[in-house]
Amino acid sequence: MLNIVLFGPPGAGKGTQAQRMMDATGLPQVSTGDMLRAAVKAQTSVGLEAKKYMDAGALVPDQVIIDLIKDRMKEGDAQDGVMFDGFPRTVPQAEALAKIVDVSIVLAIDVPDERIVERICGRFSCGNCGAVYHDSFNPLPKLGCTCGAFSEKRRADDTESTVVARLKAYHEQTAPLATFYEDAGLFTVVDGDRDIDLITTDLLNALN
Ligand code: AMP
Repeated sequence: MLNIVLFGPPGAGKGTQAQRMMDATGLPQVSTGDMLRAAVKAQTSVGLEAKKYMDAGALVPDQVIIDLIKDRMKEGDAQDGVMFDGFPRTVPQAEALAKIVDVSIVLAIDVPDERIVERICGRFSCGNCGAVYHDSFNPLPKLGCTCGAFSEKRRADDTESTVVARLKAYHEQTAPLATFYEDAGLFTVVDGDRDIDLITTDLLNALN
């Protein structure tokens, strides 16, 4: 049982690295952001409530997130462990998680604020397979997405105005979690302002 928390500011590359680590670890990626976007698209009651926070770059209330995670962790593919991406984001979320599963390790991807805006504003993904790309740092291959059926998807909240609010939420509400997990002896930091492959290697080494 290996429960990994991928930690870091918006745009640090948590989702990209989670996808790359899926093959090596065999663990599913549990992204609360992806779950919320699916709920918004499906216009569920959770989605309708979450949308106003997401559009403003603010955090969705803890209880909404904790309920989502409780349900997700009951699914079959989560029983051997998961990679949490974008969760927990507050101390109350981390405390609730501790009651659901034991966190094995927290892998923090460190990227300075001044790099975040350019990283977020150029990113897009493949609507077919979910692969993440970036206009400058991780462009779409000449032959298109490896899945063979590329369709471009950009997030509604990946705009300069929203990024400022998301970074503020990160520093005020999420960054204090570093101390929470340092105190538990679970916190490992990797320099995220480098080549994507080097970051993946370091993250996988930290797991061994
Ligand atoms: P992400 O895809 O992780 O960047 O999340 C996109 C947006 O979803 C965030 O800006 C928040 O509004 C919301 N969100 C995702 N995960 C959480 C969480 N664990 N707690 C609160 N809000 C979240």
